[in-house]
Amino acid sequence: MRPTTVRVSEMKDLTRIERIGAHSHIHGLGLNDALEPREVSDGMVGQLAARRAAGLILEIIRQGKIAGRAVLIAGQPGTGKTALAMAMAQALGADTPFTTISASEIFSLEMSKTEALTQAFRQSIGVRIKEESEIIEGEVVEIVIDRPATGAGQRRGKLTLKTTDMETLYELGQKMIESLTREKVQAGDVISIDKATGRITKLGRSYARVKEYDAMGPQTKFISCPEGELQRRKEVVHTVTLHEIDVINSRTQGFLALFSGDTGEIKSEVREQINAKVSEWREERKAELIPGVLFIDEVHMLDIECFSFLNRALESEMAPILIMATNRGITRIRGTNYKSPHGIPIDLLDRLMIITTTPYTETDIAQILRIRSEEESVTLSPDALRILTKIGTEASLRYAIQLITTANLVCRKRKATVVEVSDIKRVYKLFLDETRSAQYLNDFQDEYAFDKLMAEREQQK
Ligand code: ATP
Repeated sequence: MRPTTVRVSEMKDLTRIERIGAHSHIHGLGLNDALEPREVSDGMVGQLAARRAAGLILEIIRQGKIAGRAVLIAGQPGTGKTALAMAMAQALGADTPFTTISASEIFSLEMSKTEALTQAFRQSIGVRIKEESEIIEGEVVEIVIDRPATGAGQRRGKLTLKTTDMETLYELGQKMIESLTREKVQAGDVISIDKATGRITKLGRSYARVKEYDAMGPQTKFISCPEGELQRRKEVVHTVTLHEIDVINSRTQGFLALFSGDTGEIKSEVREQINAKVSEWREERKAELIPGVLFIDEVHMLDIECFSFLNRALESEMAPILIMATNRGITRIRGTNYKSPHGIPIDLLDRLMIITTTPYTETDIAQILRIRSEEESVTLSPDALRILTKIGTEASLRYAIQLITTANLVCRKRKATVVEVSDIKRVYKLFLDETRSAQYLNDFQDEYAFDKLMAEREQQK
C-alpha cells in the first residue's frame, strides 16, 4: 500500500473521531414520556422546539412510517445541528449505527460521488446477526453416581438432562460425564455444555432434588423437551454494517481495508450478492436490519447528481434515516444555475421534514460549557466559566468548548487542578477565533502567499 494513501485515510478517520468526540456528552434527546423536552437532560440543553420536533420524528421512525422521507436541520453554525442528529441516533438504541459525513467529502478523487454516497448509506445500516453459540444448556433432572466400593471418590455417573439438542448430547455422552464428575454437578443444577469439548459449567440451581444411586454404571439418558421450556439457550449477537459485509466479501478489497479505511469502489455484483444473502438470513430469522442514521452536514455542498441519487436511495427498503444539515438560506443548487431554499432541489425538499435550530442564550451556553467540562473531567472556577461563557456568546460556542481542553493543559502545566481565568486568557491569546482570525488576515494580507500569487498573475496579464 502506498504510504500517501494510508496517510489520507488515517486523516479521514481522525476527523471522524474528532467530530463524534465533540458530542460524547450527548446521550439522547432528553424528552419525558409525553415527548416534552426537559430543559437539561441526556446532555442536551435548551433548543426545546427542535428537540420536540425531533422527538415526533423519532415516533414516526419507530412506527416504521419514515420511508421515502428525510430530515433537514437548518440553523446557524454551532446551534447544535450535529448534536441533535447524534441525540436522535442515541435515542433509537445503543447499537444504532450513526455515520456523519460532510457533503464535501463526497467529492474525493478516490471514488465516484455516487459510490461515496452508497458507502455512506451502507455504513449506516446495521445487520444484527444472531448465531447460536456452541453452548447448549439444560437442566439436570437426575444424576446417578457410581461410587467405587473403596469410597476413593472417583465420581462417574449417569445423567438425565432435559435438552432440546439430543443429537449432540448423544455424541458427547462420555466426555460430558467426565466433566460432570469434575464439576460436581448435582441433580437440580442448570448447566451449560460446550458442544466442542463436552465441558460442563454450572450456571445455577433449578431445584434441589439430589438422587444418588450406587453402582449403576455410566449411562446417559436424555428427556426431550420442547423448545421454549429451556429458555436460556445462548445466543451470540453481532452487529455489523452492510458496508463492512461488502468490504469483507469484496475480493479486491479484503477485510484489512476496513482498518485502513481505504476501501476503494465496491462492485455492484458484490452488493447484490450481499443484499440477497442478508434477505435470506432475514427470512430464516438469523438476522435483522437496524436502520441507522446517516448525517450529512453542509448538505448545500452536494450537487444535482448527488441530490437525485438521494431522492432515489430514500425509496429503497434498505435506506437508513437520512438527516441533513445546512446553514444556508436561498442559494444556488450546485451543478445548476437555479437557486432554491438551502440549495436543495424542490423535489427533494418536498420529501423533507425541516427542523430549525436557533442561537443559544447565555444561560444555555454556560450550561453546555458546564456539561462539556464535566465530560472532559475539567474543573472550571466560577470566574473561568463566566469568562468562557462570554467568549462563547461573543466568538462561538464551538471555540469556547475547544478552549476547555487547551486551558486545562495550561492549568496542569502549572500543577493546578482548577482552571482559572488566567488559563483561559492564556489560550485565548494563543488561539484565534474566527472573527479575530479574519481581522488578522485583513491587517496582514500583504504578507500571505496567496496575495503574492494573485499579484504575480496580475502582472503577467
Ligand atoms: P455547524 O453548522 O458548524 O456544523 P452545528 O450546528 O452542527 O455546527 P454542533 O457541532 O452540533 O453545531 O455544536 C457545537 C458544539 O456544541 C458541540 O460540541 C455540541 O455537542 C455542543 N452542543 C450544541 N448544542 C447543544 C445542546 N443543545 N446541548 C448540548 N450540547 C450542545
